[in-house]
Amino acid sequence: MNFLEERILKDGQVKPGNVLKVDSFLNHQMDISLMEEIGREFKRRFGHKEITKVLTIEASGIGIACFVAKEFGVPMVFAKKSKSVNLEGEMLVAEVESFTHKNRNQVIVAKKFLSPEDKVLIIDDFLANGCALQGLISITESAGATVQGLGIAIEKGFQMGGGVLRNLGYHLESLAIVESMNDETGEILFREQK
Ligand code: 5GP
Repeated sequence: MNFLEERILKDGQVKPGNVLKVDSFLNHQMDISLMEEIGREFKRRFGHKEITKVLTIEASGIGIACFVAKEFGVPMVFAKKSKSVNLEGEMLVAEVESFTHKNRNQVIVAKKFLSPEDKVLIIDDFLANGCALQGLISITESAGATVQGLGIAIEKGFQMGGGVLRNLGYHLESLAIVESMNDETGEILFREQK
């Protein structure tokens, strides 16, 4: 079992509706030593690839993506969920359905921050049905940039996103893959990974 799986077993909580709550260490209160370790682990897994930008989506991907970007020594860009008055110039836009909030959002990146030369590593905290990653892939590809990899902290392997994205040929690395979880007993089982 790796460091993240151990932490999920210790502090994660299984909620009804296939939701795993990790807000005491990952996406509300953040354990910075753990975030650093996550950053180093993604560097180990994607370090052989050329990466010029790390891309994520607000809000909960930002913390992890910062530590990954620091390891690679490149900027981190996050897609914004609403059009703020500060956004100017041409925009790259995708529609994303939120798994946790069950609504649809437009996500936006200013075109000036992704160019056709960029080699992009996309990072997020969770992978469920894959809508968030599909949106980020679509934004990257509409900029003419290249998706070099997808890095996820926690994939829920019983939902379809991971299978679909691997079948599409993307290099997807998830640090923990939850195979099953039970909100009555609290039991969490992980997929064995090499
Ligand atoms: P997807 O788009 O793959 O269906 O869902 C991924 C997004 O939904 C992530 O950005 C994450 O913020 C949120 N999410 C999905 N499943 C969970 C979950 O079990 N727990 C938490 N905390 N967030 C989740």
